[in-house]
Amino acid sequence: MAKKNNIQDKFDNFERSKAKYIPVSAILSDVYGVLDWSRGQDGMDELISCILSQNTNDKNRDRGFNALKERFDTWEDIRFADTADVIDAIRPAGLANQKAPRIQNALEKIYEHVGDYNVDFLNEIPIEEAKDWLVSIKGIGPKTAAIVLCFAYGRPAFPVDTHVHRTSRRIGFIPDKTTADAAHPMMEAVVPPDDYYQFHIHLIQHGRDTCHARNPACERCPLTDHCDYYQQTVKSRDSE
Ligand code: SF4
Repeated sequence: MAKKNNIQDKFDNFERSKAKYIPVSAILSDVYGVLDWSRGQDGMDELISCILSQNTNDKNRDRGFNALKERFDTWEDIRFADTADVIDAIRPAGLANQKAPRIQNALEKIYEHVGDYNVDFLNEIPIEEAKDWLVSIKGIGPKTAAIVLCFAYGRPAFPVDTHVHRTSRRIGFIPDKTTADAAHPMMEAVVPPDDYYQFHIHLIQHGRDTCHARNPACERCPLTDHCDYYQQTVKSRDSE
C-alpha cells in the first residue's frame, strides 16, 4: 500500500486520471473491439525477441529473430557462440553489436538462475519479484519486463512503449514530463489490472491509427472530449 501511495503522489490529480480511464477505455473498446488475452510466444522467445526489438520496428525485429533461430539450434548454442556469429545473425534487427552480448548475457543469467533456458518460473513468483528479476539483467528495462510478463504469461504488468507513452501523456493519464520508465507504475495505478493487456494494445492501435507522433488526427478522433491535449491546445487554437 505504501508503494501505491507513493506512486499516487506523483500525479497532480490521480483520481482524475482514474476517472478519465473509464470513458476512454469504453470508447477504445468500441473502436478497436474487446480483446481477450492470448499467449503470443513462450517466455524465452518473448524475452529474446524484446531485446531484438529495441530501437527498431517489428518487421526488422522479426527478421533478426528468425535469422537467429535459423542459425542456431538451441539457446545454449547461442550462449556459447562466438559473439561475432550472433552479431552476424541478428544484423537485420539493427544495433547488433549491442544486442548480441545482451542476448548472451541474458541467457547466462537465466541458466545460472534456473539451470535451464526457461523463464516459466516468472509465472510462479510474486509479480514485483518477477519484474525485479527481469530488470536486474543488463539491457532489460521496465518495458521489456512488462511485455514478457503480460504477453507470455498474462500477468498484471503494463508495458509502456512509444505509442502508449505518447497517447497516455496527450490524453492526460500521466503528467507530460513523465519518462517512459516512470510511466509504468503510474499507468499500472490508473488502469485496472484485468485491463492491462487490452488497454495497452488499444493505446498502441490508437497511436498508430490516429494519435500519430507528428500531426495527430484530432479531427477524426473519438477521444476529444476526454483528451487534455485536444482541450488545451487544439480546441483553444481553433476557437481563436
Ligand atoms: S484528440 Fe488528438 S491528441 Fe487527443 S488522443 Fe485524439 S488524436 Fe491524440
